[in-house]
Amino acid sequence: MITFAFLKKIKQVVKLHDLQFRPFISEEEIQQTVQRMAIEIANDLKDEVPVFIGILNGSFMFVSDFVKKYPKPCEVTFIKLASYEGVKSTEDIQRLIGLTQDLSGRTVVILEDIIDSGNTLEEVHRIFKNEHVKQLLIATLFHKPTAYKKDFKLHYVGVEIPDKFIVGYGLDYNGLGRDLPEIYQLKTTQHMTNLV
Ligand code: 5GP
Repeated sequence: MITFAFLKKIKQVVKLHDLQFRPFISEEEIQQTVQRMAIEIANDLKDEVPVFIGILNGSFMFVSDFVKKYPKPCEVTFIKLASYEGVKSTEDIQRLIGLTQDLSGRTVVILEDIIDSGNTLEEVHRIFKNEHVKQLLIATLFHKPTAYKKDFKLHYVGVEIPDKFIVGYGLDYNGLGRDLPEIYQLKTTQHMTNLV
């Protein structure tokens, strides 16, 4: 019997709502990148026990895989912010779920699924300004350098990608696609060039 999981693996083009997406980054490449980031951060932090903070919803898969590959003791928690409507980034970011834990004197590593315009990152910096952390490090699995409009340092970047909308591995298009283990990129047609 062909299972749904098997069908998911062999499909080429994914249709989510009204849009089509083509395969872009394989599951294997993602896992290798996450592994590399986990080792690099562990080496840099030496004996520190960091607090990893994932930004929901998009980072849930990245954080889950990352902490499994992180070779030393660590803490992990999440906050929730929002900045996307459909396939467009918006200026309107809200803090939806706040921090409850005392982070003073701690090394905090933000784990982002993707940094695009940097608006979300700006909000993250605003939130952590008054938390008296020892250091705030930013790690993002994906980064769109040509879309980035801020000056905040990105300490760890998994993969730099073009300024095109992607889905999969936690990233959605209007609620769909987060469950895909690989990354898909929006297939554009002439009339859609204003979307990317
Ligand atoms: P920024 O605030 O840097 O523009 O965007 C950050 C957030 O927007 C990410 O955490 C993610 O939720 C969403 N985002 C940015 N680019 C993309 C993309 O290409 N695809 C999807 N699905 N979400 C994105």
